Amino acid sequence: MAGIRACTLCAPRFAATASAHRPRPVPWFAPDAAARILIAGQAPGMQVHQKGRPFDDPSGVRLRDWMGVDAATFWDRTRIAVLPMAFCFPGYDAQGADLPPPPICAATWRARVLAALPPVRLTLLIGAYAQRWHLNTRAPLTATVAGWRAHAPAIFPLPHPSWRNTAWLTRNPWFAAETLPALRQAVREALHDG
Ligand code: SF4
Repeated sequence: MAGIRACTLCAPRFAATASAHRPRPVPWFAPDAAARILIAGQAPGMQVHQKGRPFDDPSGVRLRDWMGVDAATFWDRTRIAVLPMAFCFPGYDAQGADLPPPPICAATWRARVLAALPPVRLTLLIGAYAQRWHLNTRAPLTATVAGWRAHAPAIFPLPHPSWRNTAWLTRNPWFAAETLPALRQAVREALHDG
């Protein structure tokens, strides 16, 4: 998928943001390897935009803890593929939060990339955008995540591991108590069985 790395479809959109950045797609998958896990994320943040590696930021530290994997495993593209709903950092809104992923990215690339990948054993749907696309739902994020048992163990809808969701994690203690142990078991089985 060399076309993704060269993609500049959103250049005018990004140039109009406060950061006036250029597209820097961060695809993270190995088409010829049968990754066991797919992480369907939202979009790179500024740190990932600068470093070029997905979840190479505090969100990634929390996500690896949720999954129970070390950094070497997490960034091994032959074992874990990371396909956000947009491959580039979208920029910031007026409040300094990340803008939503540009829909044109999933419309252009997502189905093609997923079709090119061998089937995975476990899919993590991080955030409402990935959940809407993969589950065809309009339900609020909390309701979707609370309904994780309807999708497990093949799919886990999750909140974004951003610090911005720390209050959500406090308000929803069942997530750490019930969802995360099941997620870690599903990750272990996906990576190590068979
Ligand atoms: S976000 Fe997606 S569609 Fe937009 S420039 Fe980046 S790779 Fe292309």
